[in-house]
Amino acid sequence: MRDRIDIGGVSVSPDHFIGGKRVSSPRTFETRCPFDWDRKLADISLGDADTANQAVEAATKAFPAWAALCQAERSAHLHRLADLIEERKNDIAMVECLDMAMLLESLQLRLVPRGALNFRNYADLAAEHEERVWSSKGTANRVIRMPAGPALIITPWNAPFMLSTWKCAPALAAGNTVILKPADWSPLSASVLADLIAESGMPPGVFNIVQGGAEIGNALTSDPRIKRISFTGSVPTARIIGRNAAENIVPFTAELGGKSALLVFEDADIDAAAKKAAGQYDDSGQVCMAGSRIIVQESVREKFLERFHHYADQHVLGDSFDSATTVSAMIHPIHVERVLGFIERARAAGDTIVRGGKRWKEGQNWIEPTLIEPKSNDSEVVQSEIFGPVLTFQTFATEDEGVALANSTAYGLSGIIYTGDAARAERVGRQVRGGTVWVNTFLVRDLTAPFGGIGISGIGREGGDYALDFHSDLKTLQILEGSVRDCS
Ligand code: NAD
Repeated sequence: MRDRIDIGGVSVSPDHFIGGKRVSSPRTFETRCPFDWDRKLADISLGDADTANQAVEAATKAFPAWAALCQAERSAHLHRLADLIEERKNDIAMVECLDMAMLLESLQLRLVPRGALNFRNYADLAAEHEERVWSSKGTANRVIRMPAGPALIITPWNAPFMLSTWKCAPALAAGNTVILKPADWSPLSASVLADLIAESGMPPGVFNIVQGGAEIGNALTSDPRIKRISFTGSVPTARIIGRNAAENIVPFTAELGGKSALLVFEDADIDAAAKKAAGQYDDSGQVCMAGSRIIVQESVREKFLERFHHYADQHVLGDSFDSATTVSAMIHPIHVERVLGFIERARAAGDTIVRGGKRWKEGQNWIEPTLIEPKSNDSEVVQSEIFGPVLTFQTFATEDEGVALANSTAYGLSGIIYTGDAARAERVGRQVRGGTVWVNTFLVRDLTAPFGGIGISGIGREGGDYALDFHSDLKTLQILEGSVRDCS
């Protein structure tokens, strides 16, 4: 076991958490602070095939007893974990702020409490579940949810605490044991979660957390003892995981990238639309659901752009402890270079850089909030997910043209529409391709609603009962009516 490390006053273990114990690997990887890159935070145990095997063994061993618990007992465990997250809210926020650069205030007020809510929501939802019962063709029918087995949850580096709890909670509530593998660019808040799991008294092996990247990821996704895989991340990784899942015939959900439209009609509140559009630079645009393609009706182009620049000018780039900061640092220099590559190629191809377009300060992880007016809809910056503070700007004449532009990429994660016309809200809301489409708002989430993507934005739906069904083997039990009697 490696020594614990001080991360902003919080003691964090750099090791895996398997079968209720800390487990080290011989090799390590380092994690650094995105807004103070010279500051190395920790050397973390780098998981491999052996680590994967230990975790799957622990989750397999713990499964029968966890699955056999009554729902009220499982839900009580989840509520206890939620209590501890609320108690340690500020510690989790501090660690994630240093590790991923999300704004401290936003973590404290929004994202970490949402982590607790994820467990509470699924504890209650699973407990309230009523089996569907009906009579048909002389038989009494019931649909029963049966725990599926050890579930593997793989998460990306953005919003890691909120996203991983969102995905682990339904698996546990459904009676599955869990192995969580967070991303290697932001591994630390998951390690705090492991401490809370231990403190909560959850039986060893029910909830395991392993650290590392593709090597352990591959070993885990190829293991036939894993009965569900729930993945959030990029399209190329989903393709690899999907192949492994197919080999073992294991159900697999994938919440992937987006290139969502923010569609503004002339009848909209243009000021509100422009403010929301400029808000897409929050978190340096590292948000899967971001409306990164701004598509505005030609008649309000100038009015929109004037208000957009007004709001974009108000952004403050800075470190994530400062409550004045609105644009946080990007996760990693490799990602900064990748995003700058998109901008350079757009410039070379003749797209117009309307604002920003370069690093904020040499050697640091910020890029100026950037707006690009592409030469054509085929431009790379329109068609590919950039996942940085880069938005594109396009215009349209008619409603049909606007919808066609909105639906012109291979993605379909979400959409944002600004209109004041109720009929148009309904009509265009149905036409825009996306798992979630907001009208005159953004990021309002109801945890019981289905969430997922269309096209290359993903497979399957999580959220509410959809995730509980995914994590269960659904069985139809049919008993011939009148053939059995109460013998108790
Ligand atoms: P990524 O695909 O590189 O990594 C995601 C996870 O997969 C990480 O934990 C990584 O270690 C792991 N991984 C990498 N190779 C693997 C392999 N061969 N086998 C198993 N696991 C492997 O994605 P990222 O760069 O961490 O995240 C950014 C992407 O995630 C963006 O595309 C973003 O849009 C997407 N995202 C989607 C949602 C959503 O809900 N739809 C939410 C957040 C982020």
